[in-house]
Amino acid sequence: MVELLFLLLPIAFYAGWRASRKHLSRNQKKQRKLSDNFVKGINFLLSEEPDKALEVFLNNQDIDEYTAETYQLLGNLFRDRGEVDRALRVHQNLISRPSLNAEQKQKAMFSLGKDFFSAGMLDRAESVFQELLKHSSLSRHVSKASVCASLRIIYEQTQEWQKAIDVTDCFSKNHKDSSKSVKLESNKLIAHYYCELADEALHQGKLNKVDELLLKARKSFKHSTRLMTLEGDIAYHQKNYKEAFKYYLKAIKEDTRLLSMLFIKLEESTRSTANIDLLKSELFKMYEHKKDKSVFETLLLLAKKYSGSAEIDDLIETELSSVRLNIESIYRASDYTIASTNGIDDRQGLLLVNQALASYLKGVPAFRCEHCGYKMHDYLWRCPACHEWDSIDHA
Ligand SMILES: [Zn+2]
Repeated sequence: MVELLFLLLPIAFYAGWRASRKHLSRNQKKQRKLSDNFVKGINFLLSEEPDKALEVFLNNQDIDEYTAETYQLLGNLFRDRGEVDRALRVHQNLISRPSLNAEQKQKAMFSLGKDFFSAGMLDRAESVFQELLKHSSLSRHVSKASVCASLRIIYEQTQEWQKAIDVTDCFSKNHKDSSKSVKLESNKLIAHYYCELADEALHQGKLNKVDELLLKARKSFKHSTRLMTLEGDIAYHQKNYKEAFKYYLKAIKEDTRLLSMLFIKLEESTRSTANIDLLKSELFKMYEHKKDKSVFETLLLLAKKYSGSAEIDDLIETELSSVRLNIESIYRASDYTIASTNGIDDRQGLLLVNQALASYLKGVPAFRCEHCGYKMHDYLWRCPACHEWDSIDHA
């Protein structure tokens, strides 16, 4: 509770001071009562009696624009601390006050929606946010974009993808930052949602609907790897392996992180068309272009399983002797070399692995601080990170 007070105190006093200055001549008694209530409420908070504090604050008849701000903050702080019931009481109480202006009411409603969301009452949170969207003019504190962003999180949780699309579109159109990145991020999300809908339609066997949804996803973000994967999956299930391979390949060219997920399907779709060599040559080109270790490892895995080539032997020689590879890549290269019947012989293979391990070890810190875990190349008397003496040991 103490950290809450640290944040709340200056605002409470500032609000009280502003209020008392504003009306001093008109209503001195009333303002003194207001200040007394603040002090009383804060005393309860200090003595860890938040419910009594709440009673004082909520029974305070006179709330003006300054004290409303404090109450607003108090509710938000309760919510941040996980005390959602108290947050709800504060914000509900605020909304019921006739003295609040439209802007404050909107702000309190937005907070109330967040309280409901935190309490897991998604239906009620949704209706509060939807109610806010009906206002033709929202205040500067509650932008249409922020309400749409809150609704988006709800619809993602409830998996109402069409609604998620609508509010993401609303977010993008109403965001004060009209830069391309906001638009792009929203379009990426919308493409995901269309893919979710297409996935549902696919499971229901509504293939016409699937095409229509994929078209929309493509219009939203044509570089969506999720879309490419889904298109590949559809072709794969229709046994159109050539087409499936094309989509999967497009997806991994766009994002090599998908390689491990798509590897089996890629392998299957090329094996079915007796075209493993095509996959190997595509991976070879991709590695030359991107130098991505996972592509190198997959290429070696395929070469070991099916067949190698002079081109792959040359690549292994170059990479093992001149590039700092990771342990996984060195292992894959040695594995391929052992299995290979021609090309690199045993001694040459061993020398290459030895060279690769030497350059790998050069980059690995030999020492480590036992106190904080900081790693270093040379032994030091004192750790440069945590300043502990004699804490360095072999890594
Ligand atoms: Zn240390």
